[in-house]
Amino acid sequence: MVSSSDLPRWDLSNVYPSLESEELRKAFADLKTQIDGLDAFLDEHRVSRTQGASNQTSTDLKQTVEGYLDRTNVSIRLYSTINAYVASFVTTDSYNTTAKRLESELEMIGIRFHQQEVRFRGWIGLVPEALPSLLSNSGTAKDHAFYLRETIEQSRYLMSEPEEALAAELDLSGSNAWSKLQGTVCSQVMVNFELEGKLQKIPITALQNLNHDPNPEVRRRAYEAEMAAWESAREPLAAALNGVKGSKIIIDKRRGRTDSLHASLDTSRIDRETLDTLLSVMRESFPTFRRYFMAKAKRLGQDRLPWWDLFAPVGKSERRYSWVEAKKFVLTQFHGFDERLAKLAQRAFDHHWIDAEPRNGKRGGAFCMDVPGVEESRVLCNFDGSLDQVSTVAHELGHAFHNECLVGKTMLQTGTPMTLAETASIMNETIISNAAIAQAASVEEELAILETTLSNVAQVIVDITSRFLFEKEVFERRANSELSADDFCEIMLDCQKATYGDGLDERYLNKYMWAWKVHYYIPSFSYYNYPYAFGLLFGTGLYSLYRERGPTFVKDYEALLSSTGEATPAELAQRFDVDIHKPEFWRDSINVLAERIDRYGKL
Ligand SMILES: [Zn+2]
Repeated sequence: MVSSSDLPRWDLSNVYPSLESEELRKAFADLKTQIDGLDAFLDEHRVSRTQGASNQTSTDLKQTVEGYLDRTNVSIRLYSTINAYVASFVTTDSYNTTAKRLESELEMIGIRFHQQEVRFRGWIGLVPEALPSLLSNSGTAKDHAFYLRETIEQSRYLMSEPEEALAAELDLSGSNAWSKLQGTVCSQVMVNFELEGKLQKIPITALQNLNHDPNPEVRRRAYEAEMAAWESAREPLAAALNGVKGSKIIIDKRRGRTDSLHASLDTSRIDRETLDTLLSVMRESFPTFRRYFMAKAKRLGQDRLPWWDLFAPVGKSERRYSWVEAKKFVLTQFHGFDERLAKLAQRAFDHHWIDAEPRNGKRGGAFCMDVPGVEESRVLCNFDGSLDQVSTVAHELGHAFHNECLVGKTMLQTGTPMTLAETASIMNETIISNAAIAQAASVEEELAILETTLSNVAQVIVDITSRFLFEKEVFERRANSELSADDFCEIMLDCQKATYGDGLDERYLNKYMWAWKVHYYIPSFSYYNYPYAFGLLFGTGLYSLYRERGPTFVKDYEALLSSTGEATPAELAQRFDVDIHKPEFWRDSINVLAERIDRYGKL
């Protein structure tokens, strides 16, 4: 075990001196002034859908667009900087009430950005024919050509201004309320469970974590207890899911979307053909993943894997990393790949960008946040000395590197879709796990490393497909009527059978996945599933190109990262002579994963 005192905490004192400081107070005041200023600017320039841009002269139009872009870039930068600073307290000290109050204040300010953006979108969308001359007359507009084109394109899918305003207001007591209810209900499900000879009352999340327990009896009992526990919570959850999906269907239809996938694809910046190709290559790979599930079942002495063994540990890794060793390992691997990445990581370690120490009041998991005001990032993780955590640090440093590649761009030039957001993190993870496998001291250790990576990727390929199929079916049926909790369970089971197939024991699937996976309940974004698979296979595919091309790949890779807010994934892939509409690229990615499955089966 790593002693906590060796683990670093992050330092943001170069951003603001403290939560109570005059500097932070002034930043809040500046932000409000800037946003009020933009509102006044939009009023003055009569930016609204009803007034329209069509009767403006081209000079007026140029001034309005430039004014909007410049002001928005400045205020989003300030907002993101304050937000990161406040979040650095909220996420590491849940008892900090000052930070929480400031966070809530920021949330309300955030809504105003959204309103201003919708207003601008509705207005500029009325004059798409003005864009070419605007781009040739204005350097600022030209620098934001991708943003402007997308904004105009997406303006087609707005309702009238009063309708949009009403929908936004009603959202708080509609979709958002349903979504919150799901969170509240799930966080309060408590289960009686016998652990270490004692009957205890534990939260359902703690129960779910027992799926990693080395004892098969504990895993089985935890699974059974979980399935029973959802029985008592399923009605409010089914109502919440009906509510979220029902509202989305109505809003999408009113906005002129063709179906439930339409808006999601546009947000992901991919077309249907790409998604279809991706999904078909994933489906094609199921037999490969089933080989993994079967090999795992065999190792655990089973014929077929029951659900509770999906995450069971296999192999043994005694290897423990101190923070210093973790740093050294990560830096050495990065040096072998890209000097600029290694330098960034060194800076992150030296300048206290990372908060690695687990402690009371700090949130779990890991994330990376951009602090644009100082052109730096900050990483949160909960380091426990395992290889898994070393890999997490590398993953988050991938996000930090991505931010670094975007330095110098305006905020509106950096908006990266979820499909591309994991590119650098997956690349780093792949580099780290390959090195760890190559250096494994024993078969048991290699097995443990392979198991961790494979159980993750199997989720992203196989389980994600089941979630996609589930959501699609739910949207289709919800359009005609509400669904019962039994309906949701039945659809879920069908989707798991269609994806896991004979990889799992059909008697023990998980019909309540819909109840607790928060992704189904996000009002603003449907199909929060395939972008994960896209991200994993896109990053892995780039890794496969790196293996082919060697060091010459690296400059192009950095250039790709610096353009993720200004081109679609298809355009970016094109630079590498890759057509993401065709299966070849995706198959190469699957092959990288299949090599590991083969190795796993042989060990
Ligand atoms: Zn990530």
